[in-house]
Amino acid sequence: MLVSATEMLQKAAAGKYAVGQFNINNLEWTKSVLLTAQELNSPVILGVSEGAGKYMTGFKTVAAMVKAMIEELNITVPVALHLDHGTYEGSKKCIEAGFSSIMFDGSHLPFDENVEKSKELIALAHSKGISIECEVGAIGGEEDGVVGKGECADPNECKKIADLGVDMLAAGIGNIHGKYPANWEGLSFETLAAIKELTKEMPLVLHGGTGIPADQIKKAISLGVAKINVNTECQLSFAEATRKYIEAGKDLEGKGFDPRKLLAPGAEAIKATVKEKMELFGSVGKAN
Ligand SMILES: [Zn+2]
Repeated sequence: MLVSATEMLQKAAAGKYAVGQFNINNLEWTKSVLLTAQELNSPVILGVSEGAGKYMTGFKTVAAMVKAMIEELNITVPVALHLDHGTYEGSKKCIEAGFSSIMFDGSHLPFDENVEKSKELIALAHSKGISIECEVGAIGGEEDGVVGKGECADPNECKKIADLGVDMLAAGIGNIHGKYPANWEGLSFETLAAIKELTKEMPLVLHGGTGIPADQIKKAISLGVAKINVNTECQLSFAEATRKYIEAGKDLEGKGFDPRKLLAPGAEAIKATVKEKMELFGSVGKAN
């Protein structure tokens, strides 16, 4: 069922596990993530970037597809449909379109402006029962074309945003979007602990989950991370399985060119990746 992310993340923070946000790109992606969550009895968050929303012809299309798919597939685990790295305008559009959760990313704005816009969108989202994530301190790597390096957020700024009543908080702790460079220094647990100290019960969000070693993921969860975003890893496993299918010449055998056959190995590969992440994050069996 489609719900806001508030309750599932409060439970995760209290239970010391994390709920995965898996970004979706199309019907196959959505179906693979939903079926895996149901099979593992895990809560799940479907992430949609503004670019992916545009690709799928708009947020209304996405919301309608997700709602219908939850019904047709009899998905009973909690599912949140969440805007990823939303602009001010994009956040408003998703609230209108029927998303159950949004992220407003004002991290690139002057801090006072981030506070003002976050405050306004928190009030708007909450008036409709929608959960909201805000961001402090830009997260490194590429976010829809914007490239940064692994920064660390200021814990005092995190507290100011947390005190606005946001439901989950994304803060840079040296994490990066996309593949990690060989010379990456790892997560800053000192920063994470300092943020947790000031923001108390607030579920913290770890972006750029692809390529962070399992032991660092587990330590981050133990220190208050309750939501972990996974995007690139599903793309890599989908691409690898699809490439193997083509390279083996299977699209040339019989009706192997049928898109339902051509995309099947990739869809299965996404399921395997999602399963692996849910097991690592500890969300398996936590749907109730
Ligand atoms: Zn992100």
